[in-house]
Amino acid sequence: MSRGDMAKPLLGHQRLEGDPSTPAAGRTIGVLGSGDFARSLAIRLVSSGFKVVVGSRNPKRKAGLFPAAAEVTFQAEAVKKTDVIFVAVFREHYSTLCDLADVLAGKILVDVSNNSEINHHKESNAEYLASLFPASTVVKGFNVVSAWTLQSGARDGNKQVLICSNNQEAKRTVAEIAQVMGFTPVDMGCMSSACEIENIPLRLLPAWKIPIFLALGLFLCFFTYNLIRQVIHPYIREQKNKLYKIPIEVVNTTLPCVAYVMLSLVYLPGVLAACSQLYYGTKYRRFPDWLDQWLQHRKQIGLLSFFCAALHAVYSFCLPMRRSHRYQLIETAVKQAVEKKMNIWVEEEVWRMEIYISVGIIALGLMSLLAITSLPSIANSLNWREFSFIQSTLGFVALVISTMHTLTYGWSRAFDENQYKFYLPPTYTLTLLVPCTVILAKVIFSLPCIRQRLLRIRRGWEKGRYVKFVLPSATGEFSSGETSSNV
Ligand code: NAP
Repeated sequence: MSRGDMAKPLLGHQRLEGDPSTPAAGRTIGVLGSGDFARSLAIRLVSSGFKVVVGSRNPKRKAGLFPAAAEVTFQAEAVKKTDVIFVAVFREHYSTLCDLADVLAGKILVDVSNNSEINHHKESNAEYLASLFPASTVVKGFNVVSAWTLQSGARDGNKQVLICSNNQEAKRTVAEIAQVMGFTPVDMGCMSSACEIENIPLRLLPAWKIPIFLALGLFLCFFTYNLIRQVIHPYIREQKNKLYKIPIEVVNTTLPCVAYVMLSLVYLPGVLAACSQLYYGTKYRRFPDWLDQWLQHRKQIGLLSFFCAALHAVYSFCLPMRRSHRYQLIETAVKQAVEKKMNIWVEEEVWRMEIYISVGIIALGLMSLLAITSLPSIANSLNWREFSFIQSTLGFVALVISTMHTLTYGWSRAFDENQYKFYLPPTYTLTLLVPCTVILAKVIFSLPCIRQRLLRIRRGWEKGRYVKFVLPSATGEFSSGETSSNV
């Protein structure tokens, strides 16, 4: 079975989630253990219309913790009353359940356990449970949902329940129970997938590693550059102590650089992919692995870019609140009074600032839109064209507006000799490099001769092969949701 097939829900769409009319509803479900998970599971099962019987080593003491509708009894008593038993006990204590092997024979055991480390044991917990109870059928499932998710109802938290087992019938039964509880069962195949399922809750943001390192790397480079220009240069050349600038000013000149460059890095791989397609005259040639990886991380890179842009907005908003800023204002006012300067209004400066703040706000607004529509729940409500329009067209507009924001901020500083500290050009000039390359490439790709060729390639035309084409008038653009084969 392919991975795509495995990701499909086990049950068809005709049954509503939590529909009490399904055959699973109303049956008796057993739960071994009376801890956090067992309690939340029992509450959810009861509210989904199941009868619940809990098996505890000490039922008298634990009964008060469960809903009144759930029966709490000794372990052996509980498992006798049902065919499906959730084992809500840690792996370390599985062996203490061995006395129940006879009563558990022929029954379905649902292993919900997790480990504390990735690949902690040689065999998965579910396989270990199956080896202890060979006469029972073990199904791995529900370990990716937390006790909190179970209690918070169908609307909150992760809705997917990954299920695997060597027994199709048992898997179907557990999937049906999950669906009645309001979850979406996902078939992960046979028991050999249990290890993978058990590792899922332990992974720490796997898709975010590369984008986070990229953002940190860029932050470090720009921070050092700005530190040299804003703090070290005045100290060495004029013996002025500007260390106070580090926490806010230097950070605030670094954040927009990272945000802007990261935003352009969302669109650069699409440009490189288009170059490759144009060069080889086909869309069927695999991209190099690094480009493939880059294309797959665009969403995370874009979200980190938005995060830095949002922080930049907050920092900028707070700039006038600083004590240093107030002192500088008073100092300037006093100087002007001493020099008897009356008119300090510089028309050009006023316009520059009005424009760059305004376009900055628009750019941030557009980036918020990109970030919101990249959330799965929102993205799922859009069709492909809407998603592509927002992520591709509006995303590119956000990049162009961010470039206007940078240019109006920098204005003529690139041509001012005094701005070259230690011969280092102003930071904004460096940040323009990648975004301007992307914008230029996009403009070139929009030239009719190149655009037509790219469109033909993306519809399957290949250099050196004769295929008659009638091009529709529909527009084709790069989309953040595309895979390497259809960028
Ligand atoms: P817990 O609060 O510590 O409960 C474990 C339960 O195991 C105890 O209440 C105990 O119930 C029972 N047990 C049976 N034999 C035992 C023994 N020999 N020694 C100690 N306890 C024994 O743990 P939990 O958080 O509910 O987790 C239970 C299982 O669910 C674990 O495998 C965990 O990985 C999995 N899980 C938990 C969560 C979560 O959010 N908590 C999420 C996903 C998966 P009695 O005293 O009544 O027998």
